[in-house]
Amino acid sequence: MDAPDPQSQPAFDVVASLAHVREAIAWAAKESGRKVEDVTLVAVSKTHDAVRIRPALEAGQKVFGENRVQEAAEKWPGLRADFADVTLHLIGPLQTNKAEDAVRLFDVIESIDRPKLARALAAAMEKTGRRPRCYVQVNTGEEPQKAGVLPLAADALIAACRDEYGLDLIGLMCIPPQGENPAPHFALLGGIARRNGIENLSMGMSGDFETAIRSGATHVRVGTAIFGEREKPKTT
Ligand SMILES: *Cc1c(COP(=O)(O)O)cnc(C)c1O
Repeated sequence: MDAPDPQSQPAFDVVASLAHVREAIAWAAKESGRKVEDVTLVAVSKTHDAVRIRPALEAGQKVFGENRVQEAAEKWPGLRADFADVTLHLIGPLQTNKAEDAVRLFDVIESIDRPKLARALAAAMEKTGRRPRCYVQVNTGEEPQKAGVLPLAADALIAACRDEYGLDLIGLMCIPPQGENPAPHFALLGGIARRNGIENLSMGMSGDFETAIRSGATHVRVGTAIFGEREKPKTT
């Protein structure tokens, strides 16, 4: 590897890291008797600039996650001009006043956690004619500082998203508490999905995506293991 130029970003081999993550996903899928094509890698590119993201696109990665509407609006229109068939997931908390921007920008919104937001998204879809697919985020650890609907309120929110707001609800998402065994949280999410007839489970990050795949994840959201450490870790 070339000596790093101190003026540039620290050298980080996104292509090799992406390949490594893909291999680990394939291995975990195989090990748990699942098909690798049933697990989608969402490459979480938040905080990283276009220069860091481009090699992943060139290596064929097509599904990306961002956690801030504003940041995604700055980065992705330019990248999408060169890579048309990208699918962009919003994985961070969403304020109702940004619902329209989110609907215009994202193909999948993973962070619906309250009826008011579901209503704002439905109105934005009506206005824009766009229909991103939707996930409900569940706060499986019942952490007060964390976004997501509480497990006991999940069924009602899911029903409201479908019946009252007519959203294309196709999945559930969770972020287990740090430092805890994530497996029970993944199992809890899976149970809520099963009893509501929901197909997709977005769970698992750099530290636990293999466990998530064994627990039935259809989407894993991996950032650090692909793009390297983030300079200013965002608390979500
Ligand atoms: C940042 C983030 C990720 C990726 O986390 P890593 O540990 O860097 O893989 C996944 N999901 C959500 C909701 C995030 O905010």
